[in-house]
Amino acid sequence: MNNLIQNKKIVTYHKINAQHNLSAHFDIYQGKDVLITVDDGDVSFYHHMFQLLKQYKMPAILFVITGLIDTKIPFWWDEIVYLIGEEEGEKKVWEVKAWPNQKRLDYLQQLREKSIKPPLEQVQLTTAQLQEMQAAGVTIANHSHTHPMFDQCTEEELREEFRKSRQFFEERQLNGYNLFAYPNGNSSPLAEKVAKEEGIQAAFLFDHKLPGNSFNPYRISRLSVTDTTGAGKLHFILSGWHTKLLPVRKKIFNILHGR
Ligand SMILES: [Zn+2]
Repeated sequence: MNNLIQNKKIVTYHKINAQHNLSAHFDIYQGKDVLITVDDGDVSFYHHMFQLLKQYKMPAILFVITGLIDTKIPFWWDEIVYLIGEEEGEKKVWEVKAWPNQKRLDYLQQLREKSIKPPLEQVQLTTAQLQEMQAAGVTIANHSHTHPMFDQCTEEELREEFRKSRQFFEERQLNGYNLFAYPNGNSSPLAEKVAKEEGIQAAFLFDHKLPGNSFNPYRISRLSVTDTTGAGKLHFILSGWHTKLLPVRKKIFNILHGR
């Protein structure tokens, strides 16, 4: 595990909208110690990135939300946007990330009950696709069972997330349960303690930083990129300067919105 992670510049993608920029990214990664990670396990990974990983023989970790695999359950943040509209929805998603977990769940349930729209469905990855990718060298790893904010969960909720995702990995002969990426990068001292007790051996943040001088396996830094990040900007991000010049929250917001 340590060889895979330590001393690497770790980049993080989410949804992959288009493939064409990605090959330029992969060209840039050649000869550099870059580890690709992708959060959420959107099905676009299978269609747009898996092939390139094989072609370029690059290591990658796909962090999946175990409760969504083999279902049509949408990502909860997409569901909020679907139910209340793009502009208000995107603001609301940021807002509810700071709410206690149960309050967020209750809010979502109320939105669903109030809405006249048909329930949102999304195509999600299947167990067969995960097993195929694992056999081809992609590490399938743990991004929780339902993607709550781990700094907003009770201890009981945290343990339930780990218990259910562990069961998922075990039942499907997938290996990466103990590699964990905090949803949204949100951690807390309680979440870290529970993660350790539940057998997690490495936990990844979403802080848009290069690895620091002292390696802490429970606080692994990652850089944020998207498939729309241009070549010049990607060089800049990998150099570490981008991190130094912008406050983190703004930076991640900008990157997620392609700015
Ligand atoms: Zn996520």
